[in-house]
Amino acid sequence: MPAPALTLARAAGRLSRGLGRGGGTSLPGKVLLRLRPGAVAELAADLPRGATLISATNGKTTTARLTTAAAKGAGWRLIANTAGANLLSGVATALLDGVAAEPNADAALFEVDEAALPEVARQLQPRVVVLMNLFRDQLDRYGELERLVQDWAGMIDDLPSDATLVLNADDPAVASLHDARRKTLLFGLDDPWLALPALPHAADSTRCRRCGARLVYEQVTVGHMGHWACPDGHLARPQPDVRAVRVRLEGTEGLALRVVTPAGEIEATPRLPGVHNAYNVTAAIAAALAMGVPADGIGDAVGGAAAAFGRGERVALDGRELVLLLAKNPAGANETVRTVLLDPEPLHLLIALNDRTADGHDVSWIWDVDYEPLLGRIAQLTVTGERAHDLALRFRYAGMELGRLRVEPHLERAMDAAVADAPVGATVYVLPTYTAMLGMRQVLVERGAAAAFWRDG
Ligand SMILES: [Zn+2]
Repeated sequence: MPAPALTLARAAGRLSRGLGRGGGTSLPGKVLLRLRPGAVAELAADLPRGATLISATNGKTTTARLTTAAAKGAGWRLIANTAGANLLSGVATALLDGVAAEPNADAALFEVDEAALPEVARQLQPRVVVLMNLFRDQLDRYGELERLVQDWAGMIDDLPSDATLVLNADDPAVASLHDARRKTLLFGLDDPWLALPALPHAADSTRCRRCGARLVYEQVTVGHMGHWACPDGHLARPQPDVRAVRVRLEGTEGLALRVVTPAGEIEATPRLPGVHNAYNVTAAIAAALAMGVPADGIGDAVGGAAAAFGRGERVALDGRELVLLLAKNPAGANETVRTVLLDPEPLHLLIALNDRTADGHDVSWIWDVDYEPLLGRIAQLTVTGERAHDLALRFRYAGMELGRLRVEPHLERAMDAAVADAPVGATVYVLPTYTAMLGMRQVLVERGAAAAFWRDG
């Protein structure tokens, strides 16, 4: 590729960083794509092991991070978008920076926004595509979940013939994308102890895609995911190739998994809590195997990976520990609630709700979250963010008394108040939407408690 386009795009990144505009994680890519529309394909063309794309409503950042750890553990040199810029411009920026920093890279691995995936795949011609789940998220941005399923099906039709699909057997919408003509690796959770008593209120894909009948579940794991079947026998959860047959929840500290794969059993003890992370770990193991990473090192590499920023990240502040658990839609928020309930201590919670574009302007989803099980366990709850009062109303309707509820829309003041409430040595669980998480991390970075996200790799 001609050098001037690359030089100009990189200069844009330095300028953006210099101005403090979010680390320049997408601007250089935008400049590059304007100068040279085919740049993504050109930059990736020489990677001997090609590109892998990971997409989902929930968990793609964590899964990409775990998969990256597995590949690096095997000695691969990777180009990845660790800063979480997951549109085409972010992928272009990551490639631009990556080929400079790692001229002999083996492969590229990107987490990609659900709606951006078809265009990124068309340009990048990936060798592996990992599709994890589809939940209702930011409805005002994407419209119906059904349209995403159709767009993904169209993308799969256009993939290179030798590409491998990695699909979640437990999500009925994702499993429906299974195409017998394609190399496919299915993954799922197969531990009966994980089952929820019933489908949550926020469950999304709960009808047979052939006849419309309500699916029956032998086991519900997360949201609408689990062991599902049409009552009339049209469709059923396919048998996964990569199965987590034992999932032990180690409180809010982490997980212990035993995963059966075509390449043998893999044990992993990641420092990531909750059943949703069991899906992320199992998906990452399947992704790494599909990429050709040898099975024997995957468990240790995944177990040693640190949490991605804001996703189970732990930060020390004033003698307390903050645990940041991004919660940006009903399915994700239900899982964070389920996860903090694993802590036997009285709970100190800070819940933050913003309504900017990246969060979704419609905050009515908080009424679909099952916050009620928290009520008997909360020592102190602080609600914050631009829509703090909506959260306060939600908890008042749930039956929360005013004595344990503080409303402080200002993120930094709310964080200080929540920390001051908690005894020294205690844990404060922070459940923010996306931009609220970025805002709080910014405060933590300024105070030297956390690293800037674009340095997080
Ligand atoms: Zn049916």
